[in-house]
Amino acid sequence: MARSIVEILKEALGGEKVLTAKQVLRERRHDTWALSILDDMQGRPAPAPCCVVQPSETADVVAVVNACRENRTPLVPFGLGSGVCGGVRVDSDTVLLDMGNMTRVRLLDKVNLLATFEAGLRGADAETIAARQGLTLGHYPQSIDISTVGGWVATRSAGQFSTAYGNIEDVVVGLEVVLPSGEILVTRQTPRASTGPDLKNIFIGSEGTLGVMTAVTFSLRWKPEKRAVSAYYAPDMDRGFELQQFIIQSGWYPPVMRQYDFMEVKRNFPEQTRDSDALIIMVHEGPNSRVDVEKKACAMLAADMGCDPAPVETVHRWLEERNHVTGFEPLLEKGIIVDTIEVAAPWDRIGLIYKSVIRSLGEVEGIRAASSHSSHCYRSGLNLYFTFAAKPDDRAKMAPIYNECWQRTMEETLAAGGGISHHHGIGRVRREWLSRELGEPGVRLLADLKHTLDPYHIMNPGVLLPHG
Ligand SMILES: Cc1cc2nc3c(=O)[nH]c(=O)nc-3n(C[C@H](O)[C@H](O)[C@H](O)COP(=O)(O)OP(=O)(O)OC[C@H]3O[C@@H](n4cnc5c(N)ncnc54)[C@H](O)[C@@H]3O)c2cc1C
Repeated sequence: MARSIVEILKEALGGEKVLTAKQVLRERRHDTWALSILDDMQGRPAPAPCCVVQPSETADVVAVVNACRENRTPLVPFGLGSGVCGGVRVDSDTVLLDMGNMTRVRLLDKVNLLATFEAGLRGADAETIAARQGLTLGHYPQSIDISTVGGWVATRSAGQFSTAYGNIEDVVVGLEVVLPSGEILVTRQTPRASTGPDLKNIFIGSEGTLGVMTAVTFSLRWKPEKRAVSAYYAPDMDRGFELQQFIIQSGWYPPVMRQYDFMEVKRNFPEQTRDSDALIIMVHEGPNSRVDVEKKACAMLAADMGCDPAPVETVHRWLEERNHVTGFEPLLEKGIIVDTIEVAAPWDRIGLIYKSVIRSLGEVEGIRAASSHSSHCYRSGLNLYFTFAAKPDDRAKMAPIYNECWQRTMEETLAAGGGISHHHGIGRVRREWLSRELGEPGVRLLADLKHTLDPYHIMNPGVLLPHG
């Protein structure tokens, strides 16, 4: 009789790395996608994988990939499951590769400011290790406590201080990747190369579909000498967008520059509401003299634009509470369907996208809230992060209404010239819009790449590619 994949893996890795206990399987069936949580609550639970494998070194990952490829078994990498787009959702024949035991520090180099961490290391632990040396990764997603450095790379994540420090693609210097063939690709760690396309970029944002990241090398920074904060009211969102554009195009880079619409000011900073104003908060960091000059320059630009100073307590409060998030479960239990959707657009499109998405979400049956803030600013544009909450009269409508809110947000964004995602990725929730984003030749190129690297399509099937 043919041996099962579980038996094959146990023989290859040893029984202690191949887990089949019901609770372990149950806990890793899916990520934090609202629709998967809703499915669990409404009696449509996603299946559990056939086993969870916990590699402790790259050679283990090679053995798992080889076994899955030879046996045509789906393989889904798992960081800490904080993804919000359905990037992890398994079938009963799937092997789930939990990277949680690969957490070693391979390099901490204070001369070249490089650190290599194994991919399963929790983001907050990586930051603590760097901080002990007076260094920082400069990459602080809100989920830093509940996500891994490998997950950051796989989802093309963004940190809260990205306006100055960049996103994951700007702080990652090199990768170690186990390819679906079982080969190990190690990209070079020179600061730049002119040696053809940069291969690490193929894997940044690949969402587990092209290989398994086993180690990530970051370019670090020294902790900034000084931090200062400032905040401004804007009479409406358009004026706030203009101020942000003005600041960044003048050459100032406050690492944090966030703009909340009135509904979000009321929700997040109720004591600081003023009329129906939007609110912009900023954090300035760097050498003493630069911070002082930047803060002053931003104040002058705000005054020129008719944006009054707002109490800086808002910024202190944001800094303190920025990673406190309650999950969606309590709202879902009350019959309220909720999610967040981030998009991005050039400056001349952003105001239109804000208005059309909020208007369109306002037409959804049972809508209770539709609001937005921006959190990542660029010389050429901005992101927007929409939040919606709807309470239909019948709980059976929660999933269809969820899909309608996504549909409306994606369609309005595309129609106004924006891009469908800024940092959460594609997963399952955005797949149907990927060809509108990349174009048919782009999707074909990605599909060809996938087929070349992973001819048996074992790596995270059903994710990213519209038909993969
Ligand atoms: C409260 C909350 C706040 C968040 N804030 C932010 C934020 O500020 N910025 C942001 O960008 N995102 C944010 N997210 C989304 C999420 O945290 C990120 O997408 C994160 O990068 C996922 O990391 P993870 O380790 O949990 O990955 P998982 O959720 O386990 O996996 C995500 C995807 O990556 C793949 N994957 C994971 N590890 C590997 C690996 N080693 N090799 C190959 N593929 C792999 C998986 O197969 C899956 O497709 C937030 C999520 C929550 C719930």
